[in-house]
Amino acid sequence: MSSFDCDVLIAGGGPTGVTLAILLAKRGVKVIVAEKEADIYPLPRAAHIDHECMRILQEAGAADAVFATSRRVARYDFLNAKGAVLLRFDGSDRIGAGGWPAANMIHQPSVETALRRSLAGYEDAKLHGGWELQSFDDDGEGVSACITTPDGERTIRARYLVGADGARSPVREAAGIAFDDLAFEEPWLVVDVLVSDYSRLPDANLQICNPDRPTTCVLMGEGRHRWEFMIKPGETAEQVSDDAFVEKLLAPWNVAGAVRIERKAVYTFRARIAEQWRKGNILLAGDAAHQTPPFAGQGMCSGLRDAANLAWKLAAMIKDGAPDALLDSYQPERAPHLRATIQMAIMMGRMVCTTSKWSAFRRDLMFRLARLLRKLPDSPTAYPPIAAGVILPGNSAAGSYFPQAIADDGIRLDDVLGTDSWLISRSDLDDARLRPFAEPLGDWLANHQAEAVLVRSDHYVFGTGSPDEMLTAWKQAVNPAGARTTEQIKEWPV
Ligand SMILES: Cc1cc2nc3c(=O)[nH]c(=O)nc-3n(C[C@H](O)[C@H](O)[C@H](O)COP(=O)(O)OP(=O)(O)OC[C@H]3O[C@@H](n4cnc5c(N)ncnc54)[C@H](O)[C@@H]3O)c2cc1C
Repeated sequence: MSSFDCDVLIAGGGPTGVTLAILLAKRGVKVIVAEKEADIYPLPRAAHIDHECMRILQEAGAADAVFATSRRVARYDFLNAKGAVLLRFDGSDRIGAGGWPAANMIHQPSVETALRRSLAGYEDAKLHGGWELQSFDDDGEGVSACITTPDGERTIRARYLVGADGARSPVREAAGIAFDDLAFEEPWLVVDVLVSDYSRLPDANLQICNPDRPTTCVLMGEGRHRWEFMIKPGETAEQVSDDAFVEKLLAPWNVAGAVRIERKAVYTFRARIAEQWRKGNILLAGDAAHQTPPFAGQGMCSGLRDAANLAWKLAAMIKDGAPDALLDSYQPERAPHLRATIQMAIMMGRMVCTTSKWSAFRRDLMFRLARLLRKLPDSPTAYPPIAAGVILPGNSAAGSYFPQAIADDGIRLDDVLGTDSWLISRSDLDDARLRPFAEPLGDWLANHQAEAVLVRSDHYVFGTGSPDEMLTAWKQAVNPAGARTTEQIKEWPV
């Protein structure tokens, strides 16, 4: 270990890299984050974060700050050109299984600020701005990375290198990993505004499926609101970014005087998944590993899920001697979830991004009929559970998401149980710490006809059964050599 500068070197200090760094540092792993820019990326990006990812931010120590400046709204409506509802998702403000409201409208730079503030509290995790990863060599034992810093060139040696370096990912490029292109490519103009009068803005998130100009209008956090306008064939990025053009685009919304444009940017929305998420000691996470159109609000969320999945596995290997094969479960566990979220976003995008009046007419007819016949969902379809990886084979609850209960006094389960994996059995529900959650936990166990559940530290169920069976199976799955992880679980609850 003495030859390593850190256990994990993370290239990229965006939301994925910083969240991963915090979750690793919490587990005692020594981390360096190399971020090429001096500051947080200022342009408009994520506006939505879901309940499961708020739970990840909770573990990362950033959820309260994000929640305080975020906004919530009940409805997500897809409207046709005349304003009729084609599709409506309701209840986005209700508490989801993650123990936070289902949809939280945020301002990404503020989320990143909260994450960096939390990271600064960990002695063994350092983020260096102005550090740009140039190249690396994986010799099997570890990775040596060449980094340019404001003080000259440095070599950092780490056991693992995680490329959380965004869509263009130099790490992915250098590792020679190709993308599986899911065939979606649409250029959009994104306009963020500062709001002085909320009463003049819509009180729902909207997709305006108008073939003349497909448009998105969504709430954001930190006193902001967002419009996104599809760039039509024949238009250029320069034309649509022109101030007078943007003013014309905003005119139908009648918000002059209520908002002030803060910034605008043109993005090409894409759908791609890297073919390989691990190559030796090199891993990819976040946009480096996958990109989705933003219609389901899942890009940053997916990066946070990657971080939660990777953190406990890397920690189990580095701190507890778990076998190297544990990391091979990362892609099989995460990629199917990604494909489902991307397919959902593409479905929404295809519905919105129609500029042909005839296609729009047919779409409207189909959706209005389906809506009349109550054949449409009233919330986004659930993403799939983990089907292959570190879960108990043949166990019906294994791989499902374990909900976060909230006690009457507002305390959340994870804050009581902490970052380790948990073994919760019916006989434990009388324990003083579990008692406030006894009803929902007891209901969960009863619904699954289970005596006990073993929950991984990323809140996916390893399996259900008797406590002894669970511990034996977990030990075999995660740590055949036998180490601290199993012993720690045995101590819960004391
Ligand atoms: C218009 C728009 C709307 C969106 N809406 C949503 C939404 O509502 N919800 C949602 O969840 N997501 C949304 N997203 C997606 C979200 O913004 C991204 O998925 C998220 O920023 C990815 O985080 P990341 O940390 O993986 O990558 P990034 O945020 O891109 O961070 C990568 C970092 O790596 C650094 N880097 C690059 N190369 C190097 C190098 N060689 N050395 C060191 N550092 C390097 C970069 O400077 C950057 O800071 C949206 C995106 C856009 C564009």
